[in-house]
Amino acid sequence: MSSKKIKGAKKAVSFKKNADKVSSFCNDVIGDICGIISGSAGVSVAKVYKLETPKVVIEKKAGVAEEEVKKFEDALEQTKKDIEGVKERAAKRLSDEELAVFDAHLMMAGDPELAGQIKTMIENDGVNAEYATEQVANQMVEMFESMDNDYFRERAADIKDVTFRLKCNLLGLTIPDLTSIDEDSIIVAHDLTPSDTAQLNEFVKGFATEIGGKTSHSAIMANSLEIPAVVGCPGVCDACKTGDTLALDALDGVVEINPDEETIAKYEAKAVAYLKEKEELKVLKNEKSVTTDGHEVELAGNIGGFKDVEGVLTNGEGVGLFRTEFLYMDSDHFPTEDEQFEAYKQVLEGMQGKKVVVRTLDIGGDKHLSYYEFPQEMNPFLGYRAIRLCLKETDIFKTQLRALCRASVYGRLCIMFPMIATVKEFCDAKAIFEEVKAELVAEGVAVSDSIEVGMMVEIPAAAVLADQFAKYADFFSIGTNDLIQYSMAADRMSEHVSYLYQPYNPSVLRLVANTIKGAHEHGKWVGMCGAMAGEPHAVPILLGLGLDEFSMSATQILKARKVVKSLSYEEMQGLAQECLNKDTADEVLETVKTKLGE
Ligand code: PEP
Ligand code: MG
Repeated sequence: MSSKKIKGAKKAVSFKKNADKVSSFCNDVIGDICGIISGSAGVSVAKVYKLETPKVVIEKKAGVAEEEVKKFEDALEQTKKDIEGVKERAAKRLSDEELAVFDAHLMMAGDPELAGQIKTMIENDGVNAEYATEQVANQMVEMFESMDNDYFRERAADIKDVTFRLKCNLLGLTIPDLTSIDEDSIIVAHDLTPSDTAQLNEFVKGFATEIGGKTSHSAIMANSLEIPAVVGCPGVCDACKTGDTLALDALDGVVEINPDEETIAKYEAKAVAYLKEKEELKVLKNEKSVTTDGHEVELAGNIGGFKDVEGVLTNGEGVGLFRTEFLYMDSDHFPTEDEQFEAYKQVLEGMQGKKVVVRTLDIGGDKHLSYYEFPQEMNPFLGYRAIRLCLKETDIFKTQLRALCRASVYGRLCIMFPMIATVKEFCDAKAIFEEVKAELVAEGVAVSDSIEVGMMVEIPAAAVLADQFAKYADFFSIGTNDLIQYSMAADRMSEHVSYLYQPYNPSVLRLVANTIKGAHEHGKWVGMCGAMAGEPHAVPILLGLGLDEFSMSATQILKARKVVKSLSYEEMQGLAQECLNKDTADEVLETVKTKLGE
């Protein structure tokens, strides 16, 4: 038997170093690579259980309305019973919160609107129950899928799930019962529906699906069940059959079918090492991030919204980057001042007084809004985006700043502006902030007077002129995802030039060093919120360069803390100087590895 290897996540793997920056690529692997859903990282080796869902083929036929309505009602009753049954079986393993998916399904199955529309179609069009069910289901799914909101798009999966069950009952088809799995298995499927994932028992050691993304139900469920999962792995179904042996490596996004004994042993060792490290890291949760010679740094987390706060709060010392664009992207209109106020307040309160660095709107480039027309540009990454847009569309900017100022009394707020290229841009943005703050105070609204106002350093021009910027900004946060792409003139989204994405290139290191030096000369602190901050081999150099705050995805924090605690600041200062004088990225990486004894 020959072994086959599928890289489930080509993009995520080749962009591995960008970790949490590449949300659009993060669909591919669930796990530490992307730092999205840590609980589902890991490695497993087990037999394949290939989920073969029945093929539903529906023909349009003429039907006697009364008979078809009766057939539909019977199938609907059976569907409700099936869902109840699945819920009962799943209750052995899932929490009430996780079981709520079945309540939602029961509600859908009992929804008079759904049943009413199907019956009306049967009666008015004289068609068979199967056809009417399919038509109405498709319309509903289409409507939900077209919504500009992740939550509603995910609800489309629930409608598909319930109506699939309904169609199977109408056609007399049996849906496989996953609760019957009684030996260690890895499920391979085109996709897993919410009710499939809820039925996974203790014998399921992981799953690989052809489709799915980070917000897909299966990804979320894998996280809560703490099993490894690789999603978005096209071709995996055709590549294997039930009974094959499968190695599922959700750390590196690899699925290997029928590997030889030696390879199995390698994956098993990797699984053991992963679990051991996970346990070891837990101990570091409430510890300080301090080097062996007493130099303390701050390890913070990057968040996209309130849902990410818990992970950062348990592992980190603050939020180093709150990417507010998700608030705008998940909405079908510019979020109002009140909507934004609630969102910021929730995060600030959630962080319980720990520092929260909120980045003002960074839209444009590859991030678009359905309700805003961006100009057509040859190079959108170099175009009208982020602070450039906010300084032009001041109403949008002021609304966000008002909401932030109002929320500032609920925690420790720092505001930073993205894509600052010139001192004038920073000063103009800061002046608008001051104006908004004064307006609110005049209105009698409470605003904290300790809000820090800083900027992202992600354009080489700002890194080079850091000492001048530091006269005006309270702090810097280095955005290496962009800083690297602009320094190397290599589009961060292009796989063709991804070899130029070189965090360890001495030119990038010198820009980082210059930024830190410029800030420290003026007594300002410097963080880094680009993916480089969470790279275990970059941490020693950054530490030695004097970086004060490292912000990364919550799942990377404990590992970074382990690294910091194992190093001497004095030695890292020497290492950093050595790295700055190397010729190539490879030489830098080699130097770090040698120093760490790897
Ligand atoms: C960066 O550029 O490093 C950064 C953190 O911002 P984003 O990835 O959101 O552009
Ligand atoms: Mg950026």
